[in-house]
Amino acid sequence: MRGRELRGELDAFLAETEQDLVAFRRDLHMYPELGFAEYRTTQRIAERLTAAGLAPSVLPRGTGIICDVGSGDGPTVALRADIDALALQDEKDVPYRSTVPGSCHACGHDVHTTILLGTSLFLAQQAAAGLLPGRVRLIFQPAEELPGGALEVMAQGGISGVDRIFGLHCDPRLDVGQVGLKPGPITSACDRLLVRVSGPGGHTARPHLTADLVFALAKILTELPAALSRRIDPRSSLSLVWGRVEAGSAANAIPDDGIAEGTVRCLDENAWHVAPDLIKSLLESVAGAYGVEAEMEYTRGVPPVVNDEMSVEMLAEAAQRALGAGSVAPTQQSLGGEDFAWYLESIPGAFARLGTRSPGGRTYDIHQGTFDVDESAIAMGVRLMAATALTALWESRPVTVTDPITTLA
Ligand SMILES: [Zn+2]
Ligand SMILES: [Zn+2]
Repeated sequence: MRGRELRGELDAFLAETEQDLVAFRRDLHMYPELGFAEYRTTQRIAERLTAAGLAPSVLPRGTGIICDVGSGDGPTVALRADIDALALQDEKDVPYRSTVPGSCHACGHDVHTTILLGTSLFLAQQAAAGLLPGRVRLIFQPAEELPGGALEVMAQGGISGVDRIFGLHCDPRLDVGQVGLKPGPITSACDRLLVRVSGPGGHTARPHLTADLVFALAKILTELPAALSRRIDPRSSLSLVWGRVEAGSAANAIPDDGIAEGTVRCLDENAWHVAPDLIKSLLESVAGAYGVEAEMEYTRGVPPVVNDEMSVEMLAEAAQRALGAGSVAPTQQSLGGEDFAWYLESIPGAFARLGTRSPGGRTYDIHQGTFDVDESAIAMGVRLMAATALTALWESRPVTVTDPITTLA
């Protein structure tokens, strides 16, 4: 009956450590660090992991940590937290307010980090008691907001040998104690597009002797998004929206170059993969029709986070086991980006939303200087992550008659 025992073990662990974890979060909150500059944060995490008998390995840049708990036999499940802050002024009036001007944990990554630390300490105890049926890889990832931290972790072999990966994010629209889950895509892709057009300029009296560049640019601005919407599955919600356009300097002179810049957002992974080539060929055909040269710079952001169905079931099972029935809530795909998506391009896994709103309390928003959480979410997150890792390990093992999963209530 490991399910019931686990809950008791988590209760006992949190009764002892919850206050300490809240203090750890407040310390991180007071000293936020931006992407790839999380030296102090990394140090603090490493100290605590080492004190628990674990062997943290700091990534080569000096920010971010990978640390394994448990033996190498059996499956490996990874848990990831992002540790970076945002370049934003803290506008809260609380004792743990940011001490760094223009920098603030306004995306809750201090909470994610603390939850993963708490989970690490609990799993270290489980491993010491011989209760960990495999290995858990703890990933304290730098620079989620840049983004790029996930790719750095992967470049350092962070997910090699990992069977499944889980992560979570604070959700200020969900009550504390609730976990928002959704199979399939849960965040979106957001890329940047820059188009540069050029052609012979001249007097507006003689457009036929020029490439009439402003007219051609206007055609690109309207026809490119329109053609794109007819060439891609509408369910992918691929949308190209311009944010900046620039050409010319005088009313009667046709310029010889111009620029348009915009974003490409997309809810679907397949559409995201084909988007750059498709946009390039459409751009060339529209520009060609008006006799201008067009080139584009396409800057990839992150792909959408696409949750694996079985991994979502494991999260749901873990939530019910560790947080109780009724803790799972459906959630929607957001138009925001999250670099956890890079891991899921290579291995299965899932990303959960963790409720951080005090029931009946104020609804905050992330990326705002006023953002804060109900700190009881930290203990909830530890319960969820620990139970998820154990559930995934149990369920990834070959089933035998003595397997704990077969005796779960
Ligand atoms: Zn963020
Ligand atoms: Zn975030």
